[in-house]
Amino acid sequence: MTGQNSGPRVLVLANQKGGVGKTTTAINLGTALAAVGEEVLVIDLDPQGNASTGLGVERRNRKVSTYDVLLGESSLADAIVQTAVPRLSIAPSTLDLLGVELEIAGDKDRAFRLKRAVAELVAGEDHRDSTHYDYILIDCPPSLNLLTINALASADAVVVPLQCEFFALEGLSQLISTVEQVTRTLNPKLSIHGVVLTMFDPRNNLANQVAADVRRFMGDKVYETMIPRNVRVSEAPSHGKPVLLYDLKCSGSQAYLKLASEVIQREKRLRAA
Ligand code: ADP
Ligand code: MG
Repeated sequence: MTGQNSGPRVLVLANQKGGVGKTTTAINLGTALAAVGEEVLVIDLDPQGNASTGLGVERRNRKVSTYDVLLGESSLADAIVQTAVPRLSIAPSTLDLLGVELEIAGDKDRAFRLKRAVAELVAGEDHRDSTHYDYILIDCPPSLNLLTINALASADAVVVPLQCEFFALEGLSQLISTVEQVTRTLNPKLSIHGVVLTMFDPRNNLANQVAADVRRFMGDKVYETMIPRNVRVSEAPSHGKPVLLYDLKCSGSQAYLKLASEVIQREKRLRAA
């Protein structure tokens, strides 16, 4: 646990590319952090709602969603539901989120809707949820739209899931310049927490080469832990479970536990610095 005096660390899972493991990492890093004693909230900001489904929150149980929160019609506390994992809760999303961009496009504070909701939650202004969160993980859609901008404006740092394939470095440079732009304009404290290599297949030569290139380019920003390609990881969401509940012993679960401990170590170093 990161301590009662400090607020939660808000980490956003971002990569403008789809299918790189953002949602899978939000679900399973969240579960792994909770498993080792951290209090975790996942905020689902993707209209697809895969993090919500993957954590077992069925559509009919999404009474209040991040859509209502961004519109300012509900507090974040109102949207939060407990998952089957102790210490892990989620603010689910619904397809309504697809329209939110148009609905708030004309508002001056459109980029800061989520930030304000998170600040209210942390300040305990809404007494429905007095939980002290250690980590808030935000799952983003695969594009740089107003939803992702809201996430980046709310966050302390970005965790970048990256698949080791051709053009991975180009995508990474693009994301880094986006983060720099957000730092200059919307959120000066934003930094890159780390890059996590996902769906890694050690038998694939290109994947090894790209992994080496990414490490050369990003140095120790790249987490040592690589998430292996593992069929159990991809099966788990159809059971509405994180892989750690579905098959704790599989290589994917073990990798996410290692990643969680790396994230916590990195946090400790950042706090000590
Ligand atoms: P994103 O959120 O970036 O679009 P997802 O997390 O949804 O990406 O992952 C894309 C697909 O890859 C999903 O079908 C997911 O189940 C699968 N997947 C993600 N990580 C792994 C892994 N380590 N091993 C096998 N399949 C994975
Ligand atoms: Mg996703």
